Amino acid sequence: MQILFDDKFIPRNQARVDIEDRGYQFGDGIYEVIRVYGGKMFCLEAHLRRFAKSASEIRMELPHSPERLQILLEELVRTNGLTEGNVYLQASRGTAPRNHPFPEHCRSQVVAYTMEASRPLQTLKEGIRAITDRDIRWLRCDIKSLNLLGAVLAKQNAVDRGCQEAILHRDGRVTEGSSTNVFMVREGTLITHPADNLILHGITREVVLELAREEGIPVREEAPSVEALFRADEVFITSTTMEVAPVISIDGRTVGEGSPGPVTRRLQNAFEKQIGKK
Ligand code: PMP
Repeated sequence: MQILFDDKFIPRNQARVDIEDRGYQFGDGIYEVIRVYGGKMFCLEAHLRRFAKSASEIRMELPHSPERLQILLEELVRTNGLTEGNVYLQASRGTAPRNHPFPEHCRSQVVAYTMEASRPLQTLKEGIRAITDRDIRWLRCDIKSLNLLGAVLAKQNAVDRGCQEAILHRDGRVTEGSSTNVFMVREGTLITHPADNLILHGITREVVLELAREEGIPVREEAPSVEALFRADEVFITSTTMEVAPVISIDGRTVGEGSPGPVTRRLQNAFEKQIGKK
């Protein structure tokens, strides 16, 4: 398998990360995960836009323009013959003697590689179980940064309790999942946290909101309380790799009927049609 390293393609086992790479030592960097359907990257432009935004928010200069990056990633997918899977893309601020401030002479380091993965078809049909957990992350969750410890700890808490996702809350309000956005349906209205600094502005979230509008499903972007989440008719999570996944239980309590609800299924069907179009 070839990986993209700066602007070269090299075999994966030849890539070396310096011990003073700032991504490695400080989590000083950003990333994206892009889904590949039928050999084509889904919503690639939106991912590259968000990547550039994350870079600018942490005052990091990227070595490639979005246009150049698009060409490189397309070549990577082609070279590795990936048809179903994901592309992982990251940029660290680069390598310099360990010190917190931005180094003066430091070039950001881009890496990308491909992973084969089939669609989570069983999960889409049967749904997942979730827990609730305190959102202990920082206040710039809109930046897709390499600092994922808050997400890792929350996800592990879910796994320890036999669940697949942790739904996070801050001051009694649901923000998002550890690696997903969270939606609930109450009396036919779709409710999800607004795209502010407390959540990642998910690309799948945006696609689903657009599809909901096309389907005539009323949408409210406001943070639901944890109590409202428990009383919801339907709950689902979205992400690049999980797509639109129903949540059938939270903290051991059944959501709605305990099976994927009608609004979730409608959005899943609409999403299915969207695959390959963007
Ligand atoms: N929120 C968080 C915290 C995430 O890590 C992710 C996935 N990386 C998402 C939401 C979903 O974003 P997307 O739909 O762009 O994959």
